[in-house]
Amino acid sequence: MAFCKCGVEIHPKRIEILDKMNKPHTCLNCSTTQKVGGFMSTEGKTERTIIIAEMDTINNLHKLSARAGTGVSKGVKMNQSYSAKHNR
Ligand SMILES: [Zn+2]
Repeated sequence: MAFCKCGVEIHPKRIEILDKMNKPHTCLNCSTTQKVGGFMSTEGKTERTIIIAEMDTINNLHKLSARAGTGVSKGVKMNQSYSAKHNR
């Protein structure tokens, strides 16, 4: 487990991302960069793309996906893969 200088535990996935971005290991509160989040895009039954972006972008994605009826809940996921298949 990794900990921030303030003593907060940092999620291993965050460490991974911070390493990729060459950023110091800090928790969200201590990070000096803009807050980032993750958004799971479901493009097919088996394809899952996780998008990491600034919170503004992520919030927009969530808003857009909610509007289109393609969230991350189980039932909606089914609907999305169904419609994606039929739109091709
Ligand atoms: Zn911290």
